[in-house]
Amino acid sequence: MAWTTKNTKGEFRALYRDPAGKALTVKDSNGDTVYYPGKRAAMAAGRDAESTARRKAPQRTTTGGDIPWGDWWDQIGGNRHKTSDGDANEKIVVEKHIRPTWGTTPLNRITNHDIKEWIKELALKHSPKYVEYIYYILKVSLDLAVDEKYGVLDATPCTAKMGLPKIVKKAMPYITDADIELYRVHGLRKDYLAVLEFAYQSGMRPSEVCGLHTEAINWDTGWCYVANSLVPGMMAIRPFTKNGGTRPAPLIDQALKLVVAALDGRELRNGCGLEHLDGKPCADDLIFRTVRGAPITPRNLAQAMRNVAKKGGFKGKSPYAARRGAATAAIVGGAPQLDVEKGLGHANLDETRGYHQMTPEVRNRLQTARDAASAAPAAPALTIVRPNTTHAA
Ligand SMILES: [Zn+2]
Repeated sequence: MAWTTKNTKGEFRALYRDPAGKALTVKDSNGDTVYYPGKRAAMAAGRDAESTARRKAPQRTTTGGDIPWGDWWDQIGGNRHKTSDGDANEKIVVEKHIRPTWGTTPLNRITNHDIKEWIKELALKHSPKYVEYIYYILKVSLDLAVDEKYGVLDATPCTAKMGLPKIVKKAMPYITDADIELYRVHGLRKDYLAVLEFAYQSGMRPSEVCGLHTEAINWDTGWCYVANSLVPGMMAIRPFTKNGGTRPAPLIDQALKLVVAALDGRELRNGCGLEHLDGKPCADDLIFRTVRGAPITPRNLAQAMRNVAKKGGFKGKSPYAARRGAATAAIVGGAPQLDVEKGLGHANLDETRGYHQMTPEVRNRLQTARDAASAAPAAPALTIVRPNTTHAA
């Protein structure tokens, strides 16, 4: 893959990856970066440089890099095979899938490109999980070759993106209206119930709900600025969320009502009393506190939920399942995926799509559509008048 970058003068620099996956810039014989007047020329130069690098193959200088993979494996792995079932499986995989391909190839001739091609072939015949298992054995063997202890290779040809097939995740437990009711009926304390329910109505992470400050709510717009979160295992506030960012999130009426209920009649403190890790002084209060006024942690909430489920004899769910419940409900109800992604702070639409779960509603929707199709009157026959033409002899 070649690509380009533009400098301030509007000239283009050509970039490509060597077989080990390292990004390089196209340079002239003096070792200076070449700038091209046009993007197309730069792309072409990048592609040329890449194929030249590939033809040369990685000639690594370290001694011992020319050891065939099979011999290397026997050195590092040969005596590890007899100890456990896992090792026995590993041996089978090596003999069946790895040695036949790489056994005689010197370590320094195993290229990023060739491994990717190999992965592609494996993926035609095996499950994504199995392909990953096979690949990781090869990867570990190459990582070990780079390890200082052995110093056989300077760099591994394995990179972050090897084109491994996607492993489809199982449906994850999510909370529904019925679950909230279940916890209420079985006596989850109302301060904990408020946090659980707010997580479900807002889709915020439990750590974000527990760290939510009064200033975060915009009562004019019904939006909320999600930034502060309670650091797990620490009674402290971090000014960003789990994935390092901050985000505006819309709050539906049900969520806003819970905020009103949590704050109603309370004398707000000037400062939440928890350390803010950015060192900034805090002038606001936490929205959700225990009945005695202490901060609520996700861990305490989880414990309280476990206790209630155990006592009530039902299968409990985690506080995080409330966030999944929010995403699932939004997707099932037909909210645009982009809105859900942004509002909940998902990394990307793939993650959001993951919440299109096996819900009864999705099944019902299919049922309704099929019933409607069956009930639809037969379409009337078309009466199209065609042009009257003849073919020349
Ligand atoms: Zn604070």
